[in-house]
Amino acid sequence: MTDLRTHAAEIAEQFSDHLDVSTDEVEERLERLVSEYRVPVDEARRSVVNSYLDDAGIERDELGGGAGGNEQTLLNDIDQDEQWVDVRAKVVDLWEPRSDAIAQVGLLGDESGRMKFVSFTTSELPELEEGKSYALGNVVTDEYQGNFSVKLNRTTSIAELDEEIEVGDDSTAVEGALVDIQSGSGLIKRCPEEDCTRVLQNGRCSEHGNVEGEFDLRIKAVLDDGDEVQEVIFNREMTEELTGIELDEAKQMAMDALDTTIVEEEMRGDLVGYYYRVTGPTFRRYVLANEVERLSDPTDAEELLIKARSM
Ligand SMILES: [Zn+2]
Repeated sequence: MTDLRTHAAEIAEQFSDHLDVSTDEVEERLERLVSEYRVPVDEARRSVVNSYLDDAGIERDELGGGAGGNEQTLLNDIDQDEQWVDVRAKVVDLWEPRSDAIAQVGLLGDESGRMKFVSFTTSELPELEEGKSYALGNVVTDEYQGNFSVKLNRTTSIAELDEEIEVGDDSTAVEGALVDIQSGSGLIKRCPEEDCTRVLQNGRCSEHGNVEGEFDLRIKAVLDDGDEVQEVIFNREMTEELTGIELDEAKQMAMDALDTTIVEEEMRGDLVGYYYRVTGPTFRRYVLANEVERLSDPTDAEELLIKARSM
C-alpha cells in the first residue's frame, strides 16, 4: 500500500461506525489535497478527518484511536494528555453528574492508584457499577491543571472481569510541625462555573472573569518534619475537622469583621506551631489531607518557620 492508501484505510476504519465511507473515497480526497494543492500529508489527513467529523456530527474524542490495540496502562502511569489507552480497573466510587451531558462520573482504581473517569451521554455506553472490575478498551486520557483523568467514549469497549482488581493505596503520611499557612487559606470563594473550581482573586476567576463566587473553606499548610517541608491541602471537610470552625461560622466571622481574611488569621493562631500527622493522596507537590491527627504540644513556631524558609 502507498502511504496515502494506508492513511486512507486508517481514516475509513476510524469512521466505520459513523459514516458510510470507503478507503477509495478517502484516498481520493487525500490525493487531491496532496497532489493538486501541495498540502503536506499530515495536514491533508487532519483536514479530511475534520470534514468527516463534521459530516458525522461528532467530536474528535469520540473517534477510535485507529487500527490496532492500545497499550495496557496503569492509572498511575498516565502522564500525558489525549492518549488512547486500555485500562483494567475497579469502579471505586460514582458521583452524581453535574450536567446532563455526563452519563457517569467517578473514580477508577487499579494496583497503582486511583483516577477520575467520565463517560458522556452521547456515547451511549452501558453503565458501570460501583465495586465491579472492568477491562476498558480505548479510553482517552485528559489533563486539567496537572490532574489526569480518563474519558470513556463511543468507541470504548467495556468487559466486566471475573477477578476483582486490587486497588492500591496511593496515600502517604507526613508528620511534622505546622509552620505556616499560605495565602489563599481560610474563607475563600470559588468560581461557580461548571467543572471550574478555581479560587477567585478579588472576585475574578482567571478563566471566567468576574463571577459570583461560592464560599468554601480550605487551608494550604506547610508541615516541617525537621528534615524537609511538605505542603498540605485541607479541603472544607478537613478544615472544619482541623479547626472546629464550620463554613457558616466562618462566613459569620467575616461578616462581623467586614473582612474575610480574619478567618485565615484565626486559623493561623489555632494551628501554627502544633505537630500533626496527615495522611492522604499526593497531587503535584501537595498531600491532600483525608486524615489528620494532632500529635503533641506547641513548639516554637517562629524558629521552625525561619528554618523552613531557609531551605
Ligand atoms: Zn472559572
